[in-house]
Amino acid sequence: MTALVCVLGASGRMGKAVIEAATGRMDVRISAAIDRAESPVIGTQVAPGLTARADLSAGLEACDVYIDFTSPEATRAAAQAATPLRRAAVIGTTGLDKDHEYAISQLAAVAPVVVAANFSLGVNMLLGLVKQAARALGSDWDAEVVETHHRSKRDAPSGTALAIARAIADGHGNDYDRVKRHSRDGDIGARPRGEIGVHSVRGGDVVGEHVVSFFGGAERIELAHRASSRSIFAAGALRAAAWAVGKPAGRYDMLDVLGLK
Ligand code: NAD
Repeated sequence: MTALVCVLGASGRMGKAVIEAATGRMDVRISAAIDRAESPVIGTQVAPGLTARADLSAGLEACDVYIDFTSPEATRAAAQAATPLRRAAVIGTTGLDKDHEYAISQLAAVAPVVVAANFSLGVNMLLGLVKQAARALGSDWDAEVVETHHRSKRDAPSGTALAIARAIADGHGNDYDRVKRHSRDGDIGARPRGEIGVHSVRGGDVVGEHVVSFFGGAERIELAHRASSRSIFAAGALRAAAWAVGKPAGRYDMLDVLGLK
């Protein structure tokens, strides 16, 4: 079966990558490309036979599943519009707070929703490795995460860095919110045991890099992932979209899609 996909944020970096990655695939077809009414892309062709529109409701009605790489506010509005339609969703927007998450949970109560801060196979593999390392090493090994992204990225730390840091806390058996340290400044004192540091670097056109360090007594382990193209996230999101159609309502992540649970 070919899943009809509505792409939100069609003129964004990720929206464009998703539309491009759909070319030639048999499992998905882009049925609508949606962006803000003010976007210069509205009314123009974004792929052969595909014109960008601002009508979210029409786009959602005429698809099996939508893919959302936009902004937290747009993600909330889309989830609210999709709930009465019980529309399946793939959500990659990061920087979501409790209100945005609530709208997503309302949709996930009636439709399958895949939410992931990172749709690449490599990062999802890294998450598993990091959790395993943290569990085996324990919190005596100081864990720090450094992420680097392009200068236009709005949220910090990256959603992927937060997912990695949570995986470390899980491996340690700790509650992340009690041990997190998002960058350091001033007279901060000695590093508490079990603390997890997360640091953000911004510059240039870096697609996304994450380096996880575990510092032992006189040794250090580093696990790293470097993305050199958005096509990996786009391909993962399309795979998630094809997978989600027909699944029971609920919230899923990329490990469900990849069969790694
Ligand atoms: P971008 O700024 O290039 O694109 C965002 C797009 O959303 C733009 O086209 C913008 O016009 C559109 N938009 C904003 N408000 C809208 C609205 N109300 N209705 C419709 N469209 C709207 O950003 P980007 O680099 O493509 O990233 C988008 C999001 O995806 C960010 O949160 C980013 O962190 C996240 N991201 C996630 C992954 C992942 O694998 N999960 C990978 C890369 C980026």
